[in-house]
Amino acid sequence: MNCYNHADQVSVSQCRDCNKGLCDYCAHFYQVPLCISCNKLHIDYEKKKIKKEFFWTIVLGAVPATAMYFLLITAEMPPDKTINDVYLRALITFFVFAPIVPGWHALNSFGNNFKGIFLIFSLPGLFMFYILKAMVSIPVGLIALPIRFIRNTKRLNELNAIPLEYN
Ligand SMILES: [Zn+2]
Ligand SMILES: [Zn+2]
Repeated sequence: MNCYNHADQVSVSQCRDCNKGLCDYCAHFYQVPLCISCNKLHIDYEKKKIKKEFFWTIVLGAVPATAMYFLLITAEMPPDKTINDVYLRALITFFVFAPIVPGWHALNSFGNNFKGIFLIFSLPGLFMFYILKAMVSIPVGLIALPIRFIRNTKRLNELNAIPLEYN
């Protein structure tokens, strides 16, 4: 069998995912023997996961924060309150809800070991599990949010830097 990309080169390895023949050069192009199209799938999948986390973090924070903002500006404001108080409360609301997403992901990395205990109580138990998990996600997420933000941004840059054509 010859390399799928270099017809004149004999293949020394195969793509781990699709079994296409890879020559010595192509087999060592990435850390693991993968052809470009298969590696692109892995990269796209990981990028999508990171972008999804960014998206839901912002949505989960922004929706209640916006609701809080409109609630406060339409409510009768006490004379000692200024527009800055409204902004501040909206901002606090953002940071109460936004950490749920990174906190949830951080808790996932510890495993879902406690789920079993709640499953004893079947469906209402599972519902309780998710409610409690969301609540625990807030304090966990306050730490996890900046850490995951930096890590995910770095990872996105790394993924974007991976070459997707042979030179
Ligand atoms: Zn492949
Ligand atoms: Zn090749």
